Amino acid sequence: ILVKNTRRGTDNEPLLRFREAKKVLGDVYGELKDNVAELEGVYKGKSINTCAIENFKTPDIKENDFVSIEQREEIEAIRDSIKTIMDTFQRDNMKVVFFGRTSNGKSTTINAMLHEKVLPQGMGHTTCCFLQVEGSEEDVGHLQLDDNPQKIDMKMLGKIGHALSDENSDLPAMGQDSLLRVFHPKQTENGECRLLQNDVVILDSPGVDLSPEFDSWIDKHCLDADVFVLVSNAESTLTQAEKNFFLRVSKKLSKPNVFILNNRWDASAAETENIEDVKKQHLTRFRQFLVDELEVCSEREVNDRIFFVSSREVLESRLKARGLVQKAYQAEGHGTRALEFQNFERHFEQCISRSAIHTKFEAHNRRAHEMIGKMRLNLNSVLTSAAEQRSKLQNNLNEATRTFNECRVNFTQFEKAYREQTEQLRAEVHLKVSADFFE
Ligand code: GDP
Repeated sequence: ILVKNTRRGTDNEPLLRFREAKKVLGDVYGELKDNVAELEGVYKGKSINTCAIENFKTPDIKENDFVSIEQREEIEAIRDSIKTIMDTFQRDNMKVVFFGRTSNGKSTTINAMLHEKVLPQGMGHTTCCFLQVEGSEEDVGHLQLDDNPQKIDMKMLGKIGHALSDENSDLPAMGQDSLLRVFHPKQTENGECRLLQNDVVILDSPGVDLSPEFDSWIDKHCLDADVFVLVSNAESTLTQAEKNFFLRVSKKLSKPNVFILNNRWDASAAETENIEDVKKQHLTRFRQFLVDELEVCSEREVNDRIFFVSSREVLESRLKARGLVQKAYQAEGHGTRALEFQNFERHFEQCISRSAIHTKFEAHNRRAHEMIGKMRLNLNSVLTSAAEQRSKLQNNLNEATRTFNECRVNFTQFEKAYREQTEQLRAEVHLKVSADFFE
């Protein structure tokens, strides 16, 4: 139902499907919460009209002694679980993690998808920790170190996230697996950020060539990822470090969704004469990697997982369209690469929304089913003990009626006997009086 309800009219806007699923699930849990509140009220002996059903009044019921403490506690536990789940899924999001060697263009690709230069990028800049970009309702963005609620000025982003930051005593030392959260306004003066607006969270990782600690990276940041994007450099082949990371990921997560972007395709196209042959070669290797080595997709799916793009061209043309730069860098063949980038975004959005609905909301959906099942059992056993109590009361009532009937029979007999006796007495008295008179 969740998938069907959220599919209506949103096939062209896959990201909206996630938000709709969130809304549908919110409604389901809202109703469940009302029902539990009603049941809890009845169990505690409150009048039902203080509960969720409006305009429906029943007289106050006394604390129901046929509801056991366990049954009451179970309903209270369900009420608490509902509250926790409702708080959790409001925070649920669609998460994409970007990987690749330093300077392959991860930050540029993320910025291109955000239509804005949010992350620092450039040859001299090396990200030393995980940078997580997420939407903020506020007008001004800020940074946060992992769970620390203290807000840090956005201006510090270049310094804290930079590989050299731990040498600077003024700034917190950031380990490779630490997380710097970048809260970027969903709505800026340059326009709306569609991905952030629709609950997409983007994670940029330190380059896989920087002596990576893959296992702690994966455990800390990737277990809840819906999609992985490997940004590769089209001018070289995949390194063992890049492959190792994904081999570890596919061991820890069942069938992760992996996209490969052959970035800097503009540079390759400009420098290579037999570009189509080079493309075929890359395609063969990447197919082998995804289908045979990682076993994360089929031969049919793999064509929608590998793209040849120029993130720099796309970013610059999007910045120009927003009036943020005067000139945009474009090399020969940029139109085809721009279409390929859009094609990647379309498949990426479909995939991340499907995966997030499946993994995140289906678990909540299953929990709702379990809770409804528990409530049904709980209510059934209360009804059974109420029925037992009623039949006990009925028995008592029958007993009382029988006794009363006996009393009535006895009384009738007594009344009859009394009447007979008085008649007899009266007759005897009458006889005696007559005799006395005649004597
Ligand atoms: P990261 O370390 O993987 O995050 O890489 P960056 O995004 O910082 O990019 C490193 C450098 O490569 C920057 O100077 C970018 O402008 C440049 N770059 C990124 N993508 C492209 C591309 O598609 N084409 C070209 N020619 N340069 C790119």
